[in-house]
Amino acid sequence: MVPRPHPTLRSGSPAAHPLGVRHGQDHARLRRQDRADGRCRPPARRPVVRAAAGPSAADDLDGVVVVGAGQAGFRTAASLRECGYAGRIALVGDEDTAPYERPPLSKAYLTGDGDEDLLWLRSSEYFVRQSIDVLADRVTAIDRAARTVRLAGGGVLGYGHLVLATGARPRGLAVPGGELRGVRPLRTLAEARILRDELRRAAEVVVVGAGFVGLEFAAAARALGCAVTVVELRDRPLARAVGERTAEHFTLLHRRQGTRLLFGRRVARFLDDGTGAVAGVELTDGSRLPADVVVVGAGVEPRTELAAAAGLEVDDGIVVDARLRTGDPAISAIGDCAAFPHPAAGRRIRLESVQNAVGHARLVAERLTGQERDYGDLPWFWSEQFSSTLQIAGLADGHDTEVVLGEWPEAFSVLLFRADRLVAVETVNRPPDHMAARRLLTKGVPLTPATAAEGGFTLTPVP
Ligand SMILES: Cc1cc2nc3c(=O)[nH]c(=O)nc-3n(C[C@H](O)[C@H](O)[C@H](O)COP(=O)(O)OP(=O)(O)OC[C@H]3O[C@@H](n4cnc5c(N)ncnc54)[C@H](O)[C@@H]3O)c2cc1C
Repeated sequence: MVPRPHPTLRSGSPAAHPLGVRHGQDHARLRRQDRADGRCRPPARRPVVRAAAGPSAADDLDGVVVVGAGQAGFRTAASLRECGYAGRIALVGDEDTAPYERPPLSKAYLTGDGDEDLLWLRSSEYFVRQSIDVLADRVTAIDRAARTVRLAGGGVLGYGHLVLATGARPRGLAVPGGELRGVRPLRTLAEARILRDELRRAAEVVVVGAGFVGLEFAAAARALGCAVTVVELRDRPLARAVGERTAEHFTLLHRRQGTRLLFGRRVARFLDDGTGAVAGVELTDGSRLPADVVVVGAGVEPRTELAAAAGLEVDDGIVVDARLRTGDPAISAIGDCAAFPHPAAGRRIRLESVQNAVGHARLVAERLTGQERDYGDLPWFWSEQFSSTLQIAGLADGHDTEVVLGEWPEAFSVLLFRADRLVAVETVNRPPDHMAARRLLTKGVPLTPATAAEGGFTLTPVP
């Protein structure tokens, strides 16, 4: 395998990045020059515009600026080119790396050899080839009247359309000691790099929160030989995300692997070892857990401050319509930061998944190149813990009945119903069932709990 060049940005580099990634000020300078010239700099290689599309909405755009170079932001830029958009694209991200995948950060990246080539969403040549300007900077303000964004580095970027893909940030715990060395969230590559090193020296690990990131991290720490305790406020793991039977499977799985799971317990404070590093966790019942490393996986909150300051509606996410437009038609919001109406939910929801980020990005790119549709993609998600691969299709929210197929707790599927209607399917170690479930849910094939519970019912045809 030929190794791909490492696209990490060099912080503070004043000039164009040799790999096609620039710092914001540099791009803003170019932008101002273009304005003075009264023209838009064409991409180095213009993608072919599909003849069938005709003149598109994007042909009139004075460039697309995407705020946030995560999964949703990157996919917007890539999809715009795939849809034939030939104008300027600036992808502004405030992390000091090129766009990367977050899912491996709590999985293989922690336990494996730390090969970061596996994380990059695309090689740096891709961005050069596609003429996508990746800027390492933070957008600090939006001027909707002038259609510009201000960068922390001092520059100003003009946009024809602005896409907010600002993602989410981990929720902290409002208890004493949260600032101690060794207490951290797991969201970014920078945090994963530190945790990866710390795990190799740690004996005792405490994970606060039995959500997906917390449990995946716990599994990785255990696989590396650490003694692991998970503290969870609710009475089961993944309480917001999966049904009871799947949650029970993960409780059994982690306990079998020797992890201590404490449910219905709350953290009171983190304990100082006297040097500013964490020594343990004290719970509200007075018990103390020793810890060299503590990961807080207490959920995330959408990064909405930029939108709110610009006068856009925010309500647990940047509020958008079915076409992912904010109240300002020149601004879309997508991915983890967006609160959008979903037909299957019948209300506005916010999802934190790769599928959602990619699906949103595709819809916005299509809209900007003249293909309008409402968003209604089937949500799906996956998680890996020890030997279990969980796949979820649909929205389990508010389900009232569970039907289990297969061999619980080793390899099984749980069909989740709301008012006699199939709303989601959770599968553990049964990928064909997951694919079949996606088809069933997308087509809206009618299925009742009674039919599913009949002996001999399977999601996949028996060969
Ligand atoms: C450890 C971990 C494991 C995960 N595992 C899975 C999994 O197995 N399966 C799955 O489906 N999903 C998983 N997810 C969730 C998935 O990664 C996210 O839903 C997805 O990354 C969301 O993409 P996004 O682009 O909306 O947000 P993000 O990936 O958060 O990207 C947003 C980016 O915008 C930047 N930004 C914010 N504000 C500004 C600003 N003002 N200026 C410039 N930049 C800004 C942020 O720094 C960030 O880089 C996981 C997440 C984590 C953290």
